Amino acid sequence: MKESLSKAVFSFKTKILNPSLYKLHQKTETNLLAKDLSDFNFKKRQALFQHAMEHSKFYKGKYGKLSMAETGLCTSEDFLQLPPLTREDLRENFETIKADNVASSQYYKASTSGSTSAPVSVLHDKRHLETPIRWRILQFWGVKPWENQAFIYRFKKPFWERVMNTIMWWPTKRIFLAAANPSTMELEHFVRSFNKIKPTLLQGYVDVVYEFALYLLDNNIKIHPPKMVWVTSAPLFEEQRELMEKAFGAPVCDQYGNTEIMLIAAECPEQNGLHMMHDTVHIEFVDENNQPVPPNTTGKILLTDLTNYAFPIIRYEIGDEGQYRDHMCKCGSPLPLMDNVRGRQSMNIETPSGLRIKGEHLMAMFKGFMKYFKELQLVQEPDYSVTIIYIPRDIRKAKDAVHKMKSSLEKRARNEIKVTISDKQCIIRKNVKSPLIVSKLQESHSH
Ligand SMILES: [Zn+2]
Repeated sequence: MKESLSKAVFSFKTKILNPSLYKLHQKTETNLLAKDLSDFNFKKRQALFQHAMEHSKFYKGKYGKLSMAETGLCTSEDFLQLPPLTREDLRENFETIKADNVASSQYYKASTSGSTSAPVSVLHDKRHLETPIRWRILQFWGVKPWENQAFIYRFKKPFWERVMNTIMWWPTKRIFLAAANPSTMELEHFVRSFNKIKPTLLQGYVDVVYEFALYLLDNNIKIHPPKMVWVTSAPLFEEQRELMEKAFGAPVCDQYGNTEIMLIAAECPEQNGLHMMHDTVHIEFVDENNQPVPPNTTGKILLTDLTNYAFPIIRYEIGDEGQYRDHMCKCGSPLPLMDNVRGRQSMNIETPSGLRIKGEHLMAMFKGFMKYFKELQLVQEPDYSVTIIYIPRDIRKAKDAVHKMKSSLEKRARNEIKVTISDKQCIIRKNVKSPLIVSKLQESHSH
């Protein structure tokens, strides 16, 4: 299929059949031309605050005693006085956070997998889809929305959804590899279709894309290099990235997003930090008093979704930590930069004496070993014991590595916890993700 036809059909469909999406796309890109992006961002926070005070019972109560309840947000200092929205707040006040002036056709519900704590649900505002931001990220990498794309997920979508998807995207071709444990036949078939349609984008969950990369490397199979590989749903190990880039012959784009707010930040080809989508999300890095930390200093992340008017999310304490940079990117984008987010605060291994070993520290400790595994998971039981479950890629090296990891974890935990190794147990999946740490200890605390 000629590219010009794909492009023409795509433009027709977005402009004529989906004019609101087209307008939103145009508007989103005009945002970036705003003279002062932080002023633009503040105005959106003011408007969102006003909306929440008028239409959300929860926020009316939460902010009711503050002077801003009368005056509105006048300065950015006012904003810093707003108490954060916690995960408990979200969990317990779902009905009252929801705006009272939104029709049920204007939102859809999304829930977190609850891999580390009890799940939370939010509503996404259909009037402000994340599609334009998705196109923006693709644009960073020179990927056009009408070019052929390949996706790797764990589960197949229902048949009719697949058919509709094919029709909707015609003549752009999209192929899917969707299986929890794809067979050799399915993998071979996917590689053949891949090389036939030569997609410019390969997208999927980190762990399954990684497995596919290992399959290509281990069997010495080459694919037609896409323009970029976009991985989502879990933090990315630097080594995983190196192996994927080698297998696909293409750069791997790291991103930051979650169920509550899908696209928060993403890398551009400079790969020197993630561009924060400052016009649609307000991202704060704060200390324990919820006040800003300086650049290049780790702080708690607070998120404000500037476009969700169905379910306002203001200063949401997501449980991640991160830092922002004080310089702009060489690529010339006005969007500010933050560091890659490595794991959640809430993913810890704990010891009986109260020592907490953070997920990102474990990732640093295990650096250099990850390439020997297809999958790896640490499960902490309510009695504090930890099992390292692994699926080897190179049996001998994996065995060697996992023993070294066991002893470094024991040492790090001051020998307070028992660590065992297993290559027989199954990796625990939470929804579609397979988290590095599963804590039955923290789960038993929170119930
Ligand atoms: Zn850049």
